[in-house]
This record gives sequence, structure tokens and C-alpha cells, in this order.
Amino acid sequence: MMLLSLFLLGMAQISLAATCFEGTGKAANVKQAWALREQICGRNACANSDAARGNNKYCNLFRYYNSGQSYVQIERNDPSGKYKNCWDALENILQQCLDNPNGGGFKNNMPNGNWRFGDEWYWIHINNNVTPGAPTGSDGKQYVKGPNRYCRGLAHGGGQACVDIPKGCYIVVPIDNVTPSVKCGHLQSHNHTVMTPSIVPKGPWTTSLNWDLHATLDGETRTPFRHHIRAGQQQTDSSNGNFLQFWHLPLELQQHVFSFCDGATLWQLMRMSSTTRDEAKKLFWSDPTTRYHIYGWWLLAGGFPGHTHDDLEALARMQYVEVDFDGVISILSSGWEDGELKFACKSADLPKNYAEQQTARFWTTLRRRFPRIIDVVLSDERSDKPGAPAPNELTQLAEGSPQGISTGVSCFQLDHKRHARPMSRHLWRQSRSDGNPSTWEVVDAAWTRRSVLPPLKEHSGPVGQYRRLIYEESDHYMYSHYARQLLSIQATEAYYLHTRQAPCVCPFPDCGLQFKLPGQWAAHYVSADAAHEGDVPLPPCETLRAAFEHHDMSMKLMLQRIDDERARMREEWGDVGSQQRNHVKKQFLQQLRDDALYAGEKAPEESSIWRHYQRDMDDKLYTYG
Ligand SMILES: [Zn+2]
Repeated sequence: MMLLSLFLLGMAQISLAATCFEGTGKAANVKQAWALREQICGRNACANSDAARGNNKYCNLFRYYNSGQSYVQIERNDPSGKYKNCWDALENILQQCLDNPNGGGFKNNMPNGNWRFGDEWYWIHINNNVTPGAPTGSDGKQYVKGPNRYCRGLAHGGGQACVDIPKGCYIVVPIDNVTPSVKCGHLQSHNHTVMTPSIVPKGPWTTSLNWDLHATLDGETRTPFRHHIRAGQQQTDSSNGNFLQFWHLPLELQQHVFSFCDGATLWQLMRMSSTTRDEAKKLFWSDPTTRYHIYGWWLLAGGFPGHTHDDLEALARMQYVEVDFDGVISILSSGWEDGELKFACKSADLPKNYAEQQTARFWTTLRRRFPRIIDVVLSDERSDKPGAPAPNELTQLAEGSPQGISTGVSCFQLDHKRHARPMSRHLWRQSRSDGNPSTWEVVDAAWTRRSVLPPLKEHSGPVGQYRRLIYEESDHYMYSHYARQLLSIQATEAYYLHTRQAPCVCPFPDCGLQFKLPGQWAAHYVSADAAHEGDVPLPPCETLRAAFEHHDMSMKLMLQRIDDERARMREEWGDVGSQQRNHVKKQFLQQLRDDALYAGEKAPEESSIWRHYQRDMDDKLYTYG
């Protein structure tokens, strides 16, 4: 999903003016707004709020200072969840409205400004005179549970009208002057039969926790290639002695045996014997149960080597691939340049056959990078209501697929509840009947697959060092970060069902429902709504808590290592005009010129890699002060 390289995050493809309200000028403590911007765009500060909401389409964060008398609030909204203009949009608002030394002054204590492009928008408020009782909480939301009465801020001026909140119900404290709706019934929901989600793995969790688990925000797991080829390795190693007899079997028998091997064993076989290498290799890359995960934006942008972290030689062998378009605003009516989105418009504004050309370009690129591909699923993480047809842009793109490539499309299906986390993923395939127009039919209503991240390219040289940093920060850290929620789900169930041999107790405050069978508590969590916000509370077990503390510490260390590496590179970058700076520049550009692994669409000096690198080294991507 959702993870995209800083290539996309940092790009400045669209520059639009912000709209300022209550005047313009340099607000007191505007530094706080720059800092919150960095937390949101660069440090994923919305993660908890996103996890609680079940998607990352909207986020609203507050940062209090001045002993709680002042705060800055940033809201962001993007139905695609990608926030491609996060850095630039917030910078525009700050420079034009709130940190503008040439402004005409503010009319009151609450200057604010917004920036909008289509459905992607950002809003910054600075409030230097907070009234008591303003909303707080990690996501800026506050919940009031019944029995209670809520009165503040209902009408303009506030404080007059009230709503009664019965027992077992709650409201979300509104930020604007709107009447909150009373939500009830969650605590009774255990009587309902919950649909078992197929997104979040269900267990039973009998194995130990995999602290290197990778997952998406929605709870789908991804297997890094290094794990894919390591699974079961021990068995292979320990049986080497007996295994020698195997080589005396006739070749066709050996091949028959190979067909039962898992990926890890085949990977070992490819390295053990030259006689069987070809057969093992063929079987390894043609395993239909393994789907290699590829970013759709990379192929739309021309599939240039410099813009991916994947090993291109490995891609060329893959036969079963999933192309993930999560976060791509307009698949068929977008324009790309050197790995960056240049425009995404309504198809009416483009030449008539633009979508057909885009489709043809996509398949040509896919064929070039994956010459052996036989089956591809075009997927998205957009959620559709139950019963919705296959996403139109995906089927249109799929219908342009060349002969010999079987093509499916896939996206999430929501439960009937509005904010529920996605419950399952549909897979559609085209049914062709002679003479009739083709239709797309659901062939799997709860599609799962072993989603494997391709092997990493060997990043080397100055460009490689920088690209590795970006990979660690975006993909590696984020996949590990999102997996923590799955680990707590697993730990909770394992603790009760296996360690205590007792029903699993939902650990969220005021819930306490109990579940006897494996998977039931995960299903309950996935279908639960606002009352199950934030991190899953850990069960009352010291060993587990210590293990999670240790894990959290290693995640912090991972960020620390990234910061240290960046600091080291900035040190090396040196001062403007220095000999050191010139030397580093020369080497970086030289590698861009000579190294095919980093080839892009443009000359080194005009390339996006070079632009992002300079901005990053000049500290313009990450800190303001
Ligand atoms: Zn619960």
C-alpha cells in the first residue's frame, strides 16, 4: 500500500497558492507549526490516528505549547491516502499566510490558511489564545462516553444546547460548531455474528512472534525476499547428509520431487548443484502461490532503474506479479516525468486517446521489465462498498493487456459500517465468451496471497548510499511500524488461548468481551469502531510487555540510525562553495552518469534523484527552525 518512496513524498509537482484567512503575517511561535509539519509529513505522526480510523484519508493533529495556552492544528485530507504534496502544501501555507514577514498583519488570535488540489487539502490553524476545554488527544479527538451530557460548542457561541449521552453510547467531541451524533451499541455488538476478516491474518498463533514482520496499514502482510528464501532453511541444511542419495535418482524423478519443494528449498537447490540449477530456478520463479509486489507508479513513470529499489535481474525472471496502484490518483489520466507525477487531471481535459496511450505505455513497460510474466493482478487499496463492481480504471487498464498475460484486478471491500477497517479483498477476472462483450466477475471474494517484496538491488556508491537511506526510511521502517499492530493482536490471542488456556479477553478499556476460538478476537478488533482506537493494549504479562518494549526500542534505534546516517551524509556534503562540496557533487553526478542501476529519464543534473538529494543534504526536506 501505501508505502511509497520519498520520491513521491518529496516531489514538488504542483505549486498552488494557499488561501489565507484572518490576514497574513509572522505569527508568534510559528516555529511550532513548522515542527508539526515535519512530524506529519516526515515522521508519520498520523500513524496512530490512521490506525484508529482504519484508513489514512484524513488526519487532524494538535501541538500544544505555551503551557497549553496556544496550539497549532494541522488537518490534512486525501482520499488516496498518499499526501503527495504534504511538504510543499504546508510550506506554501506557512510562507504565504503564517510565516510571512511581508504580510499585512493578523485580524485576531487565530490566523489560518489552507491549500487545496482536487480532494487533497491541508489546513493550518494557529491559536494563541486557547479557551479551556479545547479538544485534546493524539488524534485531536476526544470521546465522551455515556451516561453523560455534552453541552460545549454546539451552537454558534456555544454552551447553550446539550445532548444527552445514554449509558453504552458515546460521542466524538466536535471541533467545529456542529451537533455530535450519539453512537450506541458497540458494547452490545458481541451478539452479532462478525464476518471473519481475511485481511488481517487470523492465526492460530502458535509460533513465536516474528519481530521482523512487515505489514501495511490495513494489516496485509508482506514478506521481504530475504525471509521468503530463508523459511525452512534449517530443515534443508540438517538433511544434507541423507539428501546426497537424491542426486543418484533419475533426472525426471528429481524434477518430480522438486515440484513439491517450497521456495526456500528451491533457492538452496539453485545454489547446490549445477545439474539441477536450471530446473530449480525455473520452478522457483514460476510458483503461482508467490506474488511479487511491484509499485504501479513506477511502471506508469516508465519503469526506470533509478526509481526503484528492486533488483532488475530478479524482476526479469518473475512470472506472477501484483502491481499495486495504491496512492496513484489517476491511473489513466496522469502524466509522469522522471519518476514523478507531473499532472493528474480529469480525462476530459486530455487528448481523446490519452487513456489508450497510457494503457499501451504501461503494458510495454511491464513487458520490458517482466519478460517472463504470465499472470498479473492490478490492485489498489481503495475500499469499495460491498457489492460494488471492479474498479473501472483497473479494468480499463487490464483490458489492454497483451496476449499471453492473464490479468486480474483487486481492491478492498468494506463492511457495511462506514469507518470499519477493510474486511476482505476481492479478486475479479474477465470472463470471455465468444462474440459477447467481456464482463468482470468476482472469482475470489476473500483473496489472499503470499505477497513477496522483490530482492533489493545492491545499492552502492554515493547514489546508492542515499537511495538506501530513502529505502530504510520509507519502505523498511514503515512496513515494520505498521506490523506492530498485528504483533499485538497475535500476542494477545496467544497469551490467553495458549499460555493461559482461557478465553481471549479484548484488552480495550470498557470492552472486555471474551472469545474462545482462534481468530475471533482479531475479527472483533477489525470490525470494531471508534472505541477501539490506537495501539492494542498489551495483555497483563510482564514477559510480553518487556518484549514489546524491547521491540519499540529497536524501532527507535532504526530511526536513530537513519538520522545518524543522514547527519553523516550532510557532514560530508560540506559548506557551499567548499572543495569538499564540489568533490561530493562531482562524484554523485558521475555515478548518475555511469551507473545503469540509477538511470532515469533525465540528464544527471536535471534528474529528480539529484534534486531530492540536494534538498535533503541542504536540510530543506526535514527541518525548519
Ligand atoms: Zn473489544
